[in-house]
Amino acid sequence: MAGAEDLFSVEGQVVLVSGGSRGIGRAIAEGFAERRARVIISSRNPESLSQAVEEMQESGLTVESVVCDVSSEEDITSSVEQVLEAAGHIDTLINVAGVNRRKRAETVTTEDYDFIMDTNLRGAFLLSRAVGRHMIERGSGTQINIQSLNTWMPLKGVLPYAMSKSGMQGMTRALALEWGPRGVRVNSLSPGFILTDLTRKLWSDETMQAWNAANAPLGRLGVPEDMIGTAIFLASRASAFMTGQTLYVDGGFSSGWNWPIPLD
Ligand code: NAP
Repeated sequence: MAGAEDLFSVEGQVVLVSGGSRGIGRAIAEGFAERRARVIISSRNPESLSQAVEEMQESGLTVESVVCDVSSEEDITSSVEQVLEAAGHIDTLINVAGVNRRKRAETVTTEDYDFIMDTNLRGAFLLSRAVGRHMIERGSGTQINIQSLNTWMPLKGVLPYAMSKSGMQGMTRALALEWGPRGVRVNSLSPGFILTDLTRKLWSDETMQAWNAANAPLGRLGVPEDMIGTAIFLASRASAFMTGQTLYVDGGFSSGWNWPIPLD
């Protein structure tokens, strides 16, 4: 029986993080590398991947990278093959790659819809399937899907994004059902409002800042590093009896409605 200190260990795991070059994926990749996992990050852009790998190296972390646009099935097949060739297996897949476009529902173009769904939902499915086939063969593995508060309840102005994140919830549960008996656990992590390239402009708006300050139970915006603990938990033995679940790491936003009820 492993000691108490091993409960949350991810040491020695091979971890593939899609969308690992920036933001939430980058922080999670660093969190695993700091805990001595072998981490491979992927994204569309070779330059941003190399920059991320170099910066992590400067802070003493060894991380590998592979180019993969998750909206391309060809990229997914070849990148998963490359990782398996280099590392032999994958213990944990983290589906982070995601995009958004904010606009009124009636102005969403078919191209907007396809762009968002092809990355956030179809891309996550294709990657889960490619890595899942290999995990099933090995009889073990863990997958973590990055969802959103939009899974819990849609925010106005992000229709295709909200649809993609609800779809991810369905995917998480459906895969958990099918793959649980075959040794593969699938869970999700739903971040709240996190300051990244995806959201920086939005949160520079003073009205938005005031709304967050008035409504966030924990009183602040999140930072990408806030996601590390839960991702480690979901990839480790500590969550061995959990599958098909979504954990909200959202500063309390999904706890309920804040309303201006007059109270003494
Ligand atoms: P971000 O800073 O914009 O980073 C997005 C990452 O995804 C980058 O590494 C980007 O790299 C990669 N990416 C985008 N499209 C891709 C594609 N087609 N194939 C492969 N990689 C792709 O965004 P973030 O805020 O960290 O968001 C990461 C995830 O968290 C997303 O799924 C997002 O929906 C979710 N999330 C974010 C928030 C938030 O408040 N920030 C809240 C809830 C959920 P390249 O550009 O180099 O490809």
